[in-house]
Amino acid sequence: MPEYKKQPWHLIWKRWFSVTLNAGAINHSFTNSSRRTFIINLFCLVGVLFTAPLGILSLLQGNLLVGIALLVIATIYILNHLYLRRTRNYLFSANVILYPLYTLMLYLVYSGGVNGTGHVWIYCIPPVSLFLHGLKRGLLEVFVFILALIFILFVIPTPFDKLGYHPDLKTRIIYSFILIAFLSTIYEYISSRFNQSLQELSVKLEVAATTDPLTELLNRRGLQQSFEALQWHAPALLLLDIDHFKRINDDYGHKYGDEYLVLFAQTLEAFFPKQESLVSRWGGEEFLVVIEKVDSLRDMAEALREALKAITLSTGYDVNMSATVSIGVTHVGVGEDILKAISRADQGLYAAKNRGRNRVEVVEKSSGN
Ligand code: GH3
Ligand code: MG
Ligand code: MG
Repeated sequence: MPEYKKQPWHLIWKRWFSVTLNAGAINHSFTNSSRRTFIINLFCLVGVLFTAPLGILSLLQGNLLVGIALLVIATIYILNHLYLRRTRNYLFSANVILYPLYTLMLYLVYSGGVNGTGHVWIYCIPPVSLFLHGLKRGLLEVFVFILALIFILFVIPTPFDKLGYHPDLKTRIIYSFILIAFLSTIYEYISSRFNQSLQELSVKLEVAATTDPLTELLNRRGLQQSFEALQWHAPALLLLDIDHFKRINDDYGHKYGDEYLVLFAQTLEAFFPKQESLVSRWGGEEFLVVIEKVDSLRDMAEALREALKAITLSTGYDVNMSATVSIGVTHVGVGEDILKAISRADQGLYAAKNRGRNRVEVVEKSSGN
């Protein structure tokens, strides 16, 4: 019999909460959509835990309408959680939370709720509304809610009037609600600003991690990530290495070496259609290009070699700077690991260097690799 390791209860609970509260999120990082999905699920969970027992209690106390309303809302919360889990449509789920909530809260104020305590629950409206609908729409809805509250408390006759509260309570409810709305607005403003700068920073970091700062081409990581995302069918792959680049550095200086690399990268990028190619700086003076489809790989690589050879960079000296390039070429086999294809192209590059540089060598998978 295999021995099963029993998981401690707190870990099982922790996992259950995490799965339930993140159900329907696109990813678990703190983007607006995943934050809102988390809150909707949390609200559904807490909502059911509150409304279901209170609904049953209301029914037991003979408060039929409040009881049924609470139980209907508990059912809506459960269905909403399941809907969000299936569709990930958090915008719709937010409406399903908020509109019944507004209605319930207004009804609780109107009717007085259980033993006249209905109005104490309305303070959850501003934070939830602002969080789920954002500053603009959330504030508008809170404003409309306040108008509805004033209408119920001051304009129409309600069961609330018969509960025997001090007349000042009505104005205090409005004032304290406005105060909570104000504080929630400040909190939402600060947290959405913070979240926005966090997202901008995360985009910048992602770009920095996948781009070569000198040439602004993709770096190794960037190329591999983009390649995995694209899933091209048997693309072509070219590995290029500038010939005798060390000498260029030695003759003209590192600064011109850098300028030449930038010019080289620009020429390389301009040579290929953007949508059908990935151009990267693989390291130092080596560049890797993946092309989705090409009619004659060798002809194209030869044309590229000529185009790169034609680059000239004016230096402070009498002569302009130029260089040749050696290219190893192959195709990535269907389902093949790109690193395997790169090592094949590297063999081609090695052969090109050995055979005198400034040339293209094709090494395909069928030729024993
Ligand atoms: P080969 O034809 O065999 O490729 O000769 P090579 O001189 O190009 O090759 P080697 O690997 O000996 O030298 C590569 C040189 O590229 C050495 C290094 O200083 C230079 N290099 C690498 N990265 C940069 C860079 O970012 N800027 C500059 N200016 N030079 C660089
Ligand atoms: Mg090299
Ligand atoms: Mg070189």
